[in-house]
Amino acid sequence: MIVTKHQYLLNEYLEKERAYGLTTGFVPTMGALHAGHMQLVEIAAEQSAITVCSIFINPTQFNDKNDFTKYPQTFESDIHLLEPAATDFLFIPLASEIYPSGTDDLEHYDLGFLETILEGQYRPGHFQGVCQVMKRLLDMVQPDLLFMGQKDYQQCMVLEKLIGLLNIPVQLIRCPTLREFDGLAMSSRNTRLNEEQRQKAPAIFETLNWIKEQYLKGDLQDIKKQAAGILNDRGFRVDYVEVANANSLELLTDPMPGRPAVALIAAFLGEVRLIDNILLS
Ligand code: AMP
Repeated sequence: MIVTKHQYLLNEYLEKERAYGLTTGFVPTMGALHAGHMQLVEIAAEQSAITVCSIFINPTQFNDKNDFTKYPQTFESDIHLLEPAATDFLFIPLASEIYPSGTDDLEHYDLGFLETILEGQYRPGHFQGVCQVMKRLLDMVQPDLLFMGQKDYQQCMVLEKLIGLLNIPVQLIRCPTLREFDGLAMSSRNTRLNEEQRQKAPAIFETLNWIKEQYLKGDLQDIKKQAAGILNDRGFRVDYVEVANANSLELLTDPMPGRPAVALIAAFLGEVRLIDNILLS
């Protein structure tokens, strides 16, 4: 595995490899890697000849400064994890390489409706930041395939929108959410949970499963309200419990039998904000 922070080295490497017409798969991350990230790397390696992974804690996607300063940084152990895995190239750019002109005057992307709901509503500016960094990383890596986790369901949709808006020649592959033994979705933020919070955290996935069971059985508004109540009772501060059309993310007030839907939750335990989702059909 080649590790560098310099774009020119990345370019040199990719130019040489691409001369053979090889497919490039890209796994962008913010580090603090766990088995969920490693699964993306494995899927990428199965489907591409060259696997590029990046670690960059992108300042522009944090609407909460506190979340940014407390975001875990574990570069050394990340490299140790990736070394024996299938990564060919690890790119760890500096902010000055990604944002050479600073972050004050950045492009704005028309993400439409997607930016007004769920994560877009509760984390203003977050998806603009995601798009700003992803546009740059995609320009640098120029992958054929982009591997992202379904755990960040709305982020996958935003990326698909960006790829369409800018006509970027890349295909996004959504990879399933990897979970801990008790159902908690793996996340870099889980390391910030204390013992008591960690024990409570699987309630998010339990509640998603409960919504899935109830989905076609009762009044959807009532189901969402009850689900939020379950989480509140267990000590969460709920941002949202929603059910949406899985293709458009349009929020549903009534079930859509026979059509794909997704239930999504965002909730805080203490200062730590957790998100998760489940497909309902
Ligand atoms: P992050 O480092 O949190 O920005 O995540 C980098 C990529 O890993 C994103 O595409 C995430 O959706 C994906 N990811 C994060 N957690 C998981 C998980 N538990 N299972 C599968 N993919 C994940």
